[in-house]
Amino acid sequence: MSRSVRRLREFSETVFATMTARATEFDAVNLGQGFPDSDGPPRMLEIACEEIRSGNNQYGPGRGLPVLREAVAAQRSRDHGIGYDPDTEVLITVGATEAISATVLGLVEPGSEVIVLEPYYDAYAAAIALAGARRVAVPLAADGATWTVDVDAVRAAITSDTAMLIINSPHNPTGSVFGRDVLTELAAVCVEHDLLVLSDEVYENLIFDATHTAVASLPGMWERTVTVSSAAKSWNVTGWKTGWALAPAPLLDAVVTAKQFMSYVGATPFQPAVAHALNHEQEWLRGMVAELATGRDILVAGLREAGLQVHDTSGTYFVVADIGESGDGLQFCLDLPERIGVAAIPVQVFCDDPGPWRSKVRFAFGKQHGTLHRGVERLRLLDSRQG
Ligand code: PMP
Ligand code: GLN
Repeated sequence: MSRSVRRLREFSETVFATMTARATEFDAVNLGQGFPDSDGPPRMLEIACEEIRSGNNQYGPGRGLPVLREAVAAQRSRDHGIGYDPDTEVLITVGATEAISATVLGLVEPGSEVIVLEPYYDAYAAAIALAGARRVAVPLAADGATWTVDVDAVRAAITSDTAMLIINSPHNPTGSVFGRDVLTELAAVCVEHDLLVLSDEVYENLIFDATHTAVASLPGMWERTVTVSSAAKSWNVTGWKTGWALAPAPLLDAVVTAKQFMSYVGATPFQPAVAHALNHEQEWLRGMVAELATGRDILVAGLREAGLQVHDTSGTYFVVADIGESGDGLQFCLDLPERIGVAAIPVQVFCDDPGPWRSKVRFAFGKQHGTLHRGVERLRLLDSRQG
């Protein structure tokens, strides 16, 4: 039995670790945990090797190497029209995960409330618990074959203890991309109640038939928002754990205070490599996103052929399928690797009220097309073995 402190007792092994272990055990096609099975831009990889060989292997500056902070600020300005000072308003972190924890730990008092939109990425719940704060989950609302933010429900959940709202668009696990209109309405609520906002935009570049709205670009939001992003998803380097937080100096200073005692700094040699990608690899990124869109079509077609109802996805590399009203997604996903050699993630584990999400299962399509075709072939077995 784990001896963990009370505030962490609800957290056991993450669902990603469990399902990836099951995938490995049964040699399954892993469409569960979101990581790509191909590499990022070749020149970016070479730069990381060159940096190691040339001796850039010691602690870097506390806020990250200037070359990467400048590249992150330039990308925000170029892609989203938002200005940040690379010296005082950009922090390099150990992945977006550390940026999330440091933001909550640095800015949210114990006992206050943080609103998350359900289903929510698991790291938010853990960060809130670590900070001794209270999580208040507001479900997303169905919107045709996808989901959107229920702004009235968010408004109704706000109390005098609410300190922060966490927004994630493009959204993991649903693949929903929240439109500018709904985010503008949500922003007005945050301004009215003077809430801080953590905007997790790690999937900002993985967008199909939709437009990404950077939350900090909306009226009244720049001054109250910590934006988090990462090299992981845009540049196929989930293992480099290189992310960042952007915020006005008074907010970012609080994030820095927490971060410096979590890891002090991230890995030095990856930072110039990621800076290169942000500055020079737009064409590679466009190609990768085009491949991803085709990958999505392969997987969606395969899931439909397997007899599942499939929701729309316009961002991330995830798509949600429905296994039928009587199905339990958790059991389905635990069995799937052994049953047909495919791994997936149950959506209900991202929910405080799993009920409405019980039959929803997330599949990842950020994989080589050969991997997806192999997964789709195995999914066909589902149809013949159902019932
Ligand atoms: N936020 C979301 C919504 C994610 O899906 C992930 C996983 N990539 C992260 C944050 C963590 O990113 P990183 O691997 O850079 O820590
Ligand atoms: N973000 C990835 C996902 O949602 C997994 C990251 C992790 O394992 N923590 O699948």
